[in-house]
Amino acid sequence: MNKLVLKGFLLFGFCAFAQNAVSEKDFKSVEQKVIDWRRDFHQYPELSNREFKTAEKIAKHLKSLGIEVQTGVAKTGVVGVLKGNTPGKVVALRADIDALPVTERNDLSFKSEVVGEFQGEEVGVMHACGHDTHIAILMGVAEILSKNKDKIKGTVKFIFQPAEEGPPPGEEGGAALMIKEGALKNPDVDAIFGLHINSGTSVGTIGYKPGGTMAAVERFVVNVNGKQTHGSQPWGGVDPIYIAAKIIDGYQSIISRESNLLIEPAVITVGKITAGVRFNIIPESAEMIGTVRTLDPDMKALIIRRMTEMTEGLAKTYGGSATIEFQNNTAITYNDEKLTEAMLPTLQKTAGVENVVLIKATTGGEDFSFFQEKVPGFYFFLGGMTPGNTEAFPHHTPDFKIDDSGMLLGVKTLTAMSIDYLNKK
Ligand SMILES: [Zn+2]
Ligand SMILES: [Zn+2]
Repeated sequence: MNKLVLKGFLLFGFCAFAQNAVSEKDFKSVEQKVIDWRRDFHQYPELSNREFKTAEKIAKHLKSLGIEVQTGVAKTGVVGVLKGNTPGKVVALRADIDALPVTERNDLSFKSEVVGEFQGEEVGVMHACGHDTHIAILMGVAEILSKNKDKIKGTVKFIFQPAEEGPPPGEEGGAALMIKEGALKNPDVDAIFGLHINSGTSVGTIGYKPGGTMAAVERFVVNVNGKQTHGSQPWGGVDPIYIAAKIIDGYQSIISRESNLLIEPAVITVGKITAGVRFNIIPESAEMIGTVRTLDPDMKALIIRRMTEMTEGLAKTYGGSATIEFQNNTAITYNDEKLTEAMLPTLQKTAGVENVVLIKATTGGEDFSFFQEKVPGFYFFLGGMTPGNTEAFPHHTPDFKIDDSGMLLGVKTLTAMSIDYLNKK
């Protein structure tokens, strides 16, 4: 230790332990702003790939903090780069920014009255998944970190991502497009963190799981071809509706008889069937659209292979033909085990050991998974239910509600995770 360093150590040694911790005063100074931002985003939500005003507000805020800003990434995405006072690794923090075609039913002073267009229909627009809180939290983190550059050993990248709920049909978007457009490059990201607010767990708590946390989501489309005939004379044709029923039945046997559900759960759902025009005509064709949810890569491969075999095989057995096409909407949200272990003390320090809960995987999907396919990532759940409540409306519903007071822990956690990750050897 040379003299200069020794002097520095003596001067600042008393706070050596807390040198990387951001002061409570700093957090308090952004709390109300975070709430105000969130309420504004909530009142003026925008659908996937249409987050124009939202992106403008985010970019304006980041620029006001002196953060280097790139806009128009993956259509409406915003990326900010904040360099610390000393060089080091690069950590990315991601918030999704899109709302949903849901008409809000809450009685709030900042209730959304916005109407938009989705697939040609007029729809109510609502932040019914809580992404408004994600934006506000990350804007708060950006403000705090930009005032604490002396504590940042490296670089923090802020990724505000559009279209997490999925771009409109026929459009690209979301995490996959952000990656394609270089969001993880220049500077190259070493690790990425993200969170989701949860309407069903209490404010002040954090839920996490190492490994497979949220499901891979496939969308599938089945086209069944039969032969049209009179409804009174089925023997004169091939009934595609009957074949569709057999195929659905077959799919459920893949889950109940062929999947090892002790490893992870899996789900196949047919959500839409279209066939026929009236009661006395057996139509020419039927279409089915549905989703597959998996949490284990091998189970996913098995289910997709067997669904393809059943679709083609059962249709043939009953005299028709059928095809199935899969579209991968999200990968498995997979929390890197080492990174999760390394970050756990930070979560516990910020939320309190008793408030950090190991959770089970969910069959919901999250396109944060695409970032995790490229770099180690960690994704966790933040409590958003008013303390004392025991029930909450689910995400994606008109009554969905989040308690503003839950956001501060999100700000604190992402801030501490960034600093701690960058300072770890
Ligand atoms: Zn959602
Ligand atoms: Zn969401």
